[in-house]
Amino acid sequence: MTVIVRFAPSPTGNIHIGNARTALFNWLFARQRGGRFVQRFDDTDVERSRQEYADNILTDIAWLGIEPSVVEYQSKRFAVYEAAIAKLKAAGLLYPCYETAEELDLKRKVRLTRRLPPVYGREALKPTAVERARLEAEGRRPHWRFLLPNFDTDPFSTRRTEVTWTDLVRGEETVDLASLSDPVLVREDGTYLYTLPSVADDIDFGITHVIRGDDHVTNTGVQIALFKALGAEPPAFGHHNLLTAVTGEGLSKRSGALSIASLRADGIEPMAVASLAVLTGTSENVVAARDMAELAGRFDLASTSRSASKFDPADLLVLNRTLLHGMDFAAVAERLAALGIAGARAEPFWLAVRGNLDRLADAAGWWRIVTQGPTQAPDLSDEDRAFLRAAFDLLPAAPWDGTTFKAWMDQVKAVSGRKGKALFMPVRLALTGLPSGPELADLLPLLGPEGTQARRP
Ligand code: GLU
Repeated sequence: MTVIVRFAPSPTGNIHIGNARTALFNWLFARQRGGRFVQRFDDTDVERSRQEYADNILTDIAWLGIEPSVVEYQSKRFAVYEAAIAKLKAAGLLYPCYETAEELDLKRKVRLTRRLPPVYGREALKPTAVERARLEAEGRRPHWRFLLPNFDTDPFSTRRTEVTWTDLVRGEETVDLASLSDPVLVREDGTYLYTLPSVADDIDFGITHVIRGDDHVTNTGVQIALFKALGAEPPAFGHHNLLTAVTGEGLSKRSGALSIASLRADGIEPMAVASLAVLTGTSENVVAARDMAELAGRFDLASTSRSASKFDPADLLVLNRTLLHGMDFAAVAERLAALGIAGARAEPFWLAVRGNLDRLADAAGWWRIVTQGPTQAPDLSDEDRAFLRAAFDLLPAAPWDGTTFKAWMDQVKAVSGRKGKALFMPVRLALTGLPSGPELADLLPLLGPEGTQARRP
C-alpha cells in the first residue's frame, strides 16, 4: 500500500511554526515510507480564503524542504462534494434544519437547565412536508445536518455509540457519538463546512493516513462515521499535540507571530525551524538536524507526547548557530555570492567565520572587515599602539598559511614578554576592530601580508 498523506490548511493567513509541525509530520511520515504528500487547500470559505495566502503557504513549505506530489484546491472540487451530499441524502442521512442561530441557542439553554447534554435534539426531523413548505415560503433556507449513527431505530432515543481507532500518536481513542450533535455539513447559503469536503477529498485522493493536530480528535469520531456513510474505509489517524508559546498561549495564523515567512526574513535556516517544529514535544532532544534525511531518522509519531508543548523561539537562534557552524562551503556558496562573498577567498573565509555567526547574513559584516578593514578604528592605548607597531615589524615573510599566526605570536611573545590577553587582544583589535570573532590564525592568511600591514596602527 502506498502511503498517501495530506496537509490541509485553509489559506486564511500565513502559516506559523505550529502549522509547519503538522506539515512536517506528514512529510516525514510519508518520506519514511516512500509515500506521497498531497497539499490540499481547504478554501471552501471563499470570503476568508485568499490565493495570496495559498501561494505564501506553497513558498513556505518549499522553503522548509517539503515537495508535494500534487496541489489541490477544494474550491475547484464542488462537484465531488455535491455527489457526496446526494449520496447522503439518498440514504436519508442528511436532513434539512430551519432553526435560526437564536433558536438553537435557546434550545441549548433549555437542555442545560434540564440537565441534559447540550446536543442538538433533532427536532428538525419532526416537521412534516407541509410545515417545511411553509418555512420555505417564509423565505427560510435550511442548513443540513448529518444524522449520526447513534441510535437503533428511533433517532430520538440515542444510545452510547463508541467510535474507536488506534491513534498513531495517542493509542486507543474513543468518541461516543451519542455525546455529539449531528454536525452541520452545509450552511443556509449552500456553502460547506469543513467536515464533509475533508472526508470526500480524503476518500477521493486515497488518503491512507490523516495526521493533524489534536484539536481534531472529536472531529475524527464524526468523520469516521461519515467515511462509513459514504461507503469508504476510514484511513488511519494520528493526532499530534499542539505547540504553544512560552506563555502557554496557542499560536494563531492571524497574529503573524512566528510565521514561517517572518522567521525566513529573520535569517533563520529552514532546518532550524524544521528541527524545532518537529522535535519539540517528543521524546527526542531538540537538536538541529542538518537535513530532512537526518530529521526523518529521528522522527517517530509514536514518541510524540500527548500534552501541549511549550517552545521557546530563542531556541531557534541556538539551532541556527549549530547549523551554520557545521555547514560546508558548497551548501552556502550561492547564498554567500548573493551577499557579495565570492572569489578565491570565499571558501577559507567561510570556514573561518561560520562558527561565529548567528545568521548567515552576518557573514557580510565579516567579509567587509576582511576585505576592507575594521568598520571603526580600534580604541588603543599609547602603550598598546607601540606594542603593535613593534609586533607588526615581526610579521613573517610570505607565503602565509594556518601556522603563520602562531609562529608570529611566538616571536612577539619572546620579544615583548607579553602573553595571554595582553598579547592577543591588541592584535585582534588592530586586525578586526572587534574584541571577539573568528580565530586569528584563520583570519591572518585571509588578510595576507598586504592586508595585515594595512592594519598596522
Ligand atoms: N483545514 C483544516 C485545519 O486547518 C484541516 C484539518 C485536517 O487536517 O483535516 O484545521
